[in-house]
Amino acid sequence: MKLQHLYDTIKNNSLSGRYITLSDLFPILEKLSATCAMTVEGHSVLGANLYSVRWGSGPNKILAWSQMHGNESTTTKALFDLFAFLDSPGNLKAAVDSFLEKNTLLVLPMLNPDGAETYTRENANQIDLNRDAKKRSQPESQVLRSVFERFKPDLCLNLHDQRTIYGLPGPKSATLSFLAPAANKKRSLTASRKQSMQYIATIAATLSEGLAGHIGRYDDTFNEYCVGDTFQRLGVPTILFEAGHYPNDYQREETRKYVFFAFLALFQISVTTNLDYRAYFDIPENNKMYRDVVLRNALVSNNERPISLAIQYKEELHQETLRWVPYLDALGPDLPLIGHKEIDIAGQQILINSHENVFVNEEIVTLTYKNGGSIEDFLSF
Ligand SMILES: [Zn+2]
Repeated sequence: MKLQHLYDTIKNNSLSGRYITLSDLFPILEKLSATCAMTVEGHSVLGANLYSVRWGSGPNKILAWSQMHGNESTTTKALFDLFAFLDSPGNLKAAVDSFLEKNTLLVLPMLNPDGAETYTRENANQIDLNRDAKKRSQPESQVLRSVFERFKPDLCLNLHDQRTIYGLPGPKSATLSFLAPAANKKRSLTASRKQSMQYIATIAATLSEGLAGHIGRYDDTFNEYCVGDTFQRLGVPTILFEAGHYPNDYQREETRKYVFFAFLALFQISVTTNLDYRAYFDIPENNKMYRDVVLRNALVSNNERPISLAIQYKEELHQETLRWVPYLDALGPDLPLIGHKEIDIAGQQILINSHENVFVNEEIVTLTYKNGGSIEDFLSF
């Protein structure tokens, strides 16, 4: 893919991994302020600045916000790649100039800096900002709404991460999932919703070469408390992006690249095709079939027959460093789950934390064969 070369030249390497805070963004924002318009739109519960970054001056207005869930940083990294690219578009300069003439892009790259700092989904008042669209009880929700009302966007991009549990037929992990949120309980195909579907179909078709089978769509049950559903109800085409798992990429650096490619496709910088909105329904729906590790053919406690055990990591912040801590998630003889990593125990008895009885939701500190020896690599990725 020739975009790969372009990406290698513009990727913002000062941002990496999953734990991205406002202090990581700040030096980059300061440099960017020389080339694009930067504004403090308001403040978080704990008083952190809520920045917006504006590119272009065209009549079509695009509003994007990332990290409204503080621990969902992949799309933030991709946005800063996009900013670097807009600043230095290489041989795509003509396409970028055309984009910036036709569009104004206004981005809130970190809507929940307090949650980003503590690596939590919620803000400092433990409120999920993506369930606060109706009450708007939080300062971050009020800022997003006031920017929306003042800017009057023609398109909204609601940027998130999804967990590693999401999969697609194949089976494949759901690396990128999208949703054209419903505008009402009937999930009618309103004009703005069709527009969102058409954009998503175009992105999916453009990315299908490098990411075949890894692109999904989300359940479209209407939720009046969600921001995307609310903006769609107000008649503005809105796209939910969910950055997910790419094989062996727990830092989401590959996924980040595909989010960037998705932006280029959406902005018609890397493609010129336009699909009919109906192509949206050809994108497979996400399922929840994946877990991080599945052990097969393991004997536990007094069972006579081997079973499968599913292990799921929880991302936990310890002294500024993110750790992937394994927990026993589920077990059974016919477990309908697939592991990003699968380990065959070959019928041997295992011990979790040195005991024979195993408990769902327990943290796994050690995982060993009863007759000695640790189970290799169960924690590596
Ligand atoms: Zn989210």
